[in-house]
Amino acid sequence: MQTTTDSKSGFSRITLEQGPIEEVHAFWLAGMSCDGCSIAAVGAKNPSVDQLIRAAIPGLPKIVLHHPVLSVTAGDEFMEAYHKAKRGELEAPYVVLYEGSVADESIAGRLGGYWSAMGMEYSDDGLHKPIPTAHWLRDLAPSAAAVIAVGTCATWGGIPAAAGNVTNSMSVMDFLGEDYLSALGLPPINIPGCAPVGDNLTETIAAVLMFLVGLGPLPEFDGLGRPAWLFRDTVHRGCVRAGNYEEGVFAKNYGDPECLVELGCWGPVVQCNMVSRGALGHNGGCMNTGGICIGCTMPGFPDAFAPFYKSPPGTIVSGMASRTVGSFIRPLRRLTQGKTNWTARWKENENVPSGWGHQKQGVVEKISGFFYNKLQHSGTKFSPNSKTQKKLQESGHSFLKSDSKTKQPEEVA
Ligand code: SF4
Ligand code: SF4
Repeated sequence: MQTTTDSKSGFSRITLEQGPIEEVHAFWLAGMSCDGCSIAAVGAKNPSVDQLIRAAIPGLPKIVLHHPVLSVTAGDEFMEAYHKAKRGELEAPYVVLYEGSVADESIAGRLGGYWSAMGMEYSDDGLHKPIPTAHWLRDLAPSAAAVIAVGTCATWGGIPAAAGNVTNSMSVMDFLGEDYLSALGLPPINIPGCAPVGDNLTETIAAVLMFLVGLGPLPEFDGLGRPAWLFRDTVHRGCVRAGNYEEGVFAKNYGDPECLVELGCWGPVVQCNMVSRGALGHNGGCMNTGGICIGCTMPGFPDAFAPFYKSPPGTIVSGMASRTVGSFIRPLRRLTQGKTNWTARWKENENVPSGWGHQKQGVVEKISGFFYNKLQHSGTKFSPNSKTQKKLQESGHSFLKSDSKTKQPEEVA
């Protein structure tokens, strides 16, 4: 660890080198936030916050978490570590986690107030002032091993930065600027979502720590600083309802089990892994529980996706295409499904001994099944139509066809 002073800002900067590290401090800051990102973080499972702070992952350093809600200390005692880090006296590497968007404190300052603050600045004249979290970010970012923006407000600006933004709120990357690099040489890392998937955050922290201690490569981030392996795919690709979309079957009302695109779901274009990973503790997640995707992980959120609950304009074309293709595919799949719902024994006996309902293969199913079988086994060595199989049948060793029908249970008894 080397300390240098930045000639432009005057702040001391710690330059980190990779190597053995026993503990890393994590300073949580909350700007214009609803605290939902904190809730999401504590719901993470792989790894959990608990595993990170107990150093339960082999090879990873212990995380000393400073969180305004989760820490057991309060007031000046809680703030002490923040001040130490700012003065360059912490003697351990640290990361900054920022939740919420960064408001323009100069606006509130002109009126003698503040938007989001933590800790007090004491002065001799007795005019003690709360310290805006934006100032903490400005002061702690240069020497941080990494700055991680948690949730959509911190990553892109989110709801506080939507149209009519009276606080001039902005994202962490807008606030720190294009040239910002952490002590590890990283631009801000962005974990979007309103609220984000907790595991996306803890997994990224673990991956960065592995890099920091020299146990792994630098994780892959995309051009917007998102962990590429988490945000490469659209939520639609992993959606439990994607098969309905493909077959052109759409929900008409909330509570229907089909694809929700005509009720306003933007999933086909939104980069998010919510449905495959689950919201909290791997449970829930928007479309898993009947909700549409309103694009909350995307930089354009919320304005680009409003009005919510109105189908996206692209749905008219893509929905029509899916309906047309689906109208051919669905009946074909039903035929194949009918064939595969019969066991070899039932086929031979031409009867399904089910007390639940009458199961019958009609003429169409039988004919299509015959040709399907031909196609399915053509060219394979042991297909029912192959020469080898016919030879086996002739020599009395067929395992597909016996001399008499399969015996019924009462005959066996
Ligand atoms: S509900 Fe949304 S994400 Fe899921 S299949 Fe339909 S359009 Fe895609
Ligand atoms: S599925 Fe859509 S609304 Fe749900 S978390 Fe992902 S981006 Fe946000």
